[in-house]
Amino acid sequence: MHIIEIYRSLQGESSFAGLPCTFVRLAGCNLRCAWCDSEYTFAGGHKICSAEILAEVQRLSPKGGLVEITGGEPMLQERELIPFMQQLLACGYELLLETSGERPLEFVPREVHKIVDVKCPGSGEHLRFRLENLATLTPRDELKFVLASREDYEYARDFIRCHGLESKSARLILSPAFRKGATGSRSTENCLLDPRDLAEWMLADNLNARLGIQIHKYIWEPQLKGV
Ligand code: SF4
Repeated sequence: MHIIEIYRSLQGESSFAGLPCTFVRLAGCNLRCAWCDSEYTFAGGHKICSAEILAEVQRLSPKGGLVEITGGEPMLQERELIPFMQQLLACGYELLLETSGERPLEFVPREVHKIVDVKCPGSGEHLRFRLENLATLTPRDELKFVLASREDYEYARDFIRCHGLESKSARLILSPAFRKGATGSRSTENCLLDPRDLAEWMLADNLNARLGIQIHKYIWEPQLKGV
């Protein structure tokens, strides 16, 4: 597989936020979200075999625990990634998969927690979501909407209600987009959408979803990679 980095940090997003986690970041993405903070994954990376990646994961997490497969878009390397995820599960790791929602997810092992983006208009990629992926979701999984504006919020809210997702099993997370190339202070001023506005809109609409904050952007400086 083509890998950008393997590192240990705290999980910064999702309902697993705050837990120690080993990250395996794969190279390559076929989308170009306007606020993407992972453009360094688009090209390059090292070709490493699954056995070497597993050895590094075991070195970083010798006692098991949480491992996240992320990118880029990891499912572009599905042919090698699916057997690798099965291998990690067999070793006892709890596995998260971050994916854009554009690739088919039918063959992801059921034990994996899929964290699936639904891109909103502010990303410029909102027409790329693969609706069939909704049928693959289980109570282990999460749907994540990254929002840059009120328009994005309304798109997410209407998508959730139109597809009856509040009553479905997967967890729903609405998260303010972070300013691309943000540097300096660890502050909500780097958000494209004020979390307080988002909280008030969610409460006003009585939306049964979770407001998600990327906590790693407040623990470490926003420009730092590999944290
Ligand atoms: S899917 Fe993820 S990695 Fe790809 S462009 Fe969008 S935010 Fe960046």
